[in-house]
Amino acid sequence: MTLREYVNSKLSTKIAMESLGIKVTEGSCFCEFHRDREGGKKSAKYYADGDFIMCFSERKTFQAFDVLTVLAGVSEKDLYSWAINDGWSPGGKEFLVKNVVLSDAFLSRVFLYKLGKLKFLEIVKDFKNEVLK
Ligand SMILES: [Zn+2]
Repeated sequence: MTLREYVNSKLSTKIAMESLGIKVTEGSCFCEFHRDREGGKKSAKYYADGDFIMCFSERKTFQAFDVLTVLAGVSEKDLYSWAINDGWSPGGKEFLVKNVVLSDAFLSRVFLYKLGKLKFLEIVKDFKNEVLK
């Protein structure tokens, strides 16, 4: 499971939007991800079924992960730290963070962390080194 999928599985898009003071109702709405209000035409729609926002102008869908990273300005690194602490583990070598492929060495250290052999702050430090290498 990717970080995006994990975050989306833990937090609803509607609740994430409402936590930022943006009211979400079913049906047409302004897209908060581009300058939709300036045009005066509502080009997005919230789908309660799948809990996502579809912007017909951008031809994109948005979920909680996008609300946190784009609208709330939360960094992917911080979400990563939170997710690891929450019990999520990267799906494997193919897991990407900003197009960085995590090394086997790092993944084995994540494994050690899950076994309680490494402290959380150590794995966060490792992660920073991994991404900035
Ligand atoms: Zn949009």
